[in-house]
Amino acid sequence: MPTFVRTDKCDGCKGQDKTACMYICPHDLMKLDKDGSETGHAMKAWNQEPEQCWECYSCVKICPQQAIECRHYADIVPLGGSVQPLRGTDSIMWTIKFRNGTIKRFKFPIRTTPEGSIKPYENKPKADMAKIDQSGFFTANSIHTTDRSQLLSG
Ligand code: SF4
Ligand code: SF4
Repeated sequence: MPTFVRTDKCDGCKGQDKTACMYICPHDLMKLDKDGSETGHAMKAWNQEPEQCWECYSCVKICPQQAIECRHYADIVPLGGSVQPLRGTDSIMWTIKFRNGTIKRFKFPIRTTPEGSIKPYENKPKADMAKIDQSGFFTANSIHTTDRSQLLSG
């Protein structure tokens, strides 16, 4: 079920060429209507192919205005309920609204390194080049080649 943009909250990411939701959507579904000619809402983003949205929540989490919400499958979130995340630099808060009005919030840590940093190979073994022909060979380098001689050089 697709996302939708709350036009009362969206500020078009202040007119940047690529908005946060456009940047993050893995399916390139989000689009900014700069002059309002496509939706009637100038400087507001919208999900241009709702049927293609796989509800990954990336745009919902990244929107700085909390302007994007998700229509859920009714068996998970019945009409009247909602599930809304608020992402911080080191945690995420999920606000669950039940259809009877009950609200519950759950906060989880999301990082073990400072925002903007990663340690993808921490605690991983070093590549043992003697095992290069074995299946399961581990390399901590990003190697984009099928040329075996390049793998063994350097
Ligand atoms: S990220 Fe949010 S505020 Fe920015 S254009 Fe998209 S919906 Fe609007
Ligand atoms: S939920 Fe995911 S697939 Fe759907 S519009 Fe947002 S980023 Fe794109």
